[in-house]
Amino acid sequence: MFLPQEIVRKKRDGGALSAEEIKFFVAGIPDGRTTEGQIAALAMAVYFKDMTMDERVAFTLAMRDSGQVMEWKSLDLPGPVLDKHSTGGVGDVVSLMLGPMVAACGGFVPMISGRGLGHTGGTLDKFDSIPGYSTVPDPALFKKVVKEVGVAIIGQTAQLAPADKRFYSIRDTTATVESVAMITGSILSKKLAAGLDALVMDVKVGSGAFMPTYEKSVELADSIVQVGNGAGTRTSAILTGMNESLCPAAGNAVEVRVAIDYLTGRSRPARLHEVTMALCAEMLVISGLAATHEEANARLQHALDSGEAAERFARMVSVLGGPADLMERPDAYLAAAPIVLPVPALESGYAYATDCRSLGLAVVGLGGGRVRPQDAIDFAVGLTGLVELGAKVEAGQPLALVHARTQEGAERAVREVQAAYRIAEVAPAVAPTIYKTIRP
Ligand code: URA
Repeated sequence: MFLPQEIVRKKRDGGALSAEEIKFFVAGIPDGRTTEGQIAALAMAVYFKDMTMDERVAFTLAMRDSGQVMEWKSLDLPGPVLDKHSTGGVGDVVSLMLGPMVAACGGFVPMISGRGLGHTGGTLDKFDSIPGYSTVPDPALFKKVVKEVGVAIIGQTAQLAPADKRFYSIRDTTATVESVAMITGSILSKKLAAGLDALVMDVKVGSGAFMPTYEKSVELADSIVQVGNGAGTRTSAILTGMNESLCPAAGNAVEVRVAIDYLTGRSRPARLHEVTMALCAEMLVISGLAATHEEANARLQHALDSGEAAERFARMVSVLGGPADLMERPDAYLAAAPIVLPVPALESGYAYATDCRSLGLAVVGLGGGRVRPQDAIDFAVGLTGLVELGAKVEAGQPLALVHARTQEGAERAVREVQAAYRIAEVAPAVAPTIYKTIRP
């Protein structure tokens, strides 16, 4: 027999909790047996005293098992069940292409995605900008689409890791989000509830990243790799740059447009391509679908060049209720903003740095993200044509185009984007797009 307050006391005093103690405590979170005060106290104790890797594994599994865990064995799929997760960023549209690309190479991708958080965009919001596309299909349809198309990208249901939902909302209001142990458990419990064989984590580094420093990003990546593998899912992590928007657009419909252009081959921005290919290749290799990264890259490139990946995306969209000809006629379906204003550079020189977080917040300010959880999103607004770091600009030349609902909003966003870019006389040192890969 355990008592929640004794578990809190043990952690407060720096002890390591047993798997049974963690299981008991977490089981009481969704059903209200554990009080808000006890959860907040444990969160603060973990914040200061941390958790060992064994504790983190037990914590992750307990939160995963607080709700529904998907099982795929009974479907007898002819390939592994895989997913990718990112700590979030600006212009990070990777999931939209990665799912169909991996499916085209024999993987099965049941991607349960989230909404935008703070300055970062959410894959779920991007899909909501496709008219008719259902991000909340019933579980039977979700499984059918994964089986038949190889990929389905949907939203989180209330049945998924409900302990994390309550725990996170308490952390959010008690200054206890910033703990690598708890972030690891929170992210992995939701991802592992999808019943994955393998997971690749994209941990962002830079001014638009969730983690504040490179060292903290490495610490989180390491923790996720150890805990994911400890929980029985092959997991690796890639650290990727988020000092500027990953693609030339940031918003919802404007990013879907980038994904469609990428899949159809109309335009493949280099940094976006590099990160997408690296994450896809890692998924193919750790799941055994490819023997080497060279083989994985060749197969992925073929999936793009043959049109197979674009075809998977198109099928997923139409089976989930979206338009059957979205790829051919994106303009007919994706919302366009009534006001488009260029952002003139204030001086001549090189794009030296961006405050990437501020760029994301400019999109939120336009209505493309939420200030409060219940807010509706304006899918049409955002930024396009974002100038890349290292590019030479002349004063007055556009740094980006603002897509806005109102003139006032457009003008505010113009000032925010101008303030987010630092222009210098010299070109910046090139920052890596991919820093490193962490494997078990
Ligand atoms: N995202 C999550 O899902 N959980 C955290 O704790 C932090 C970021």
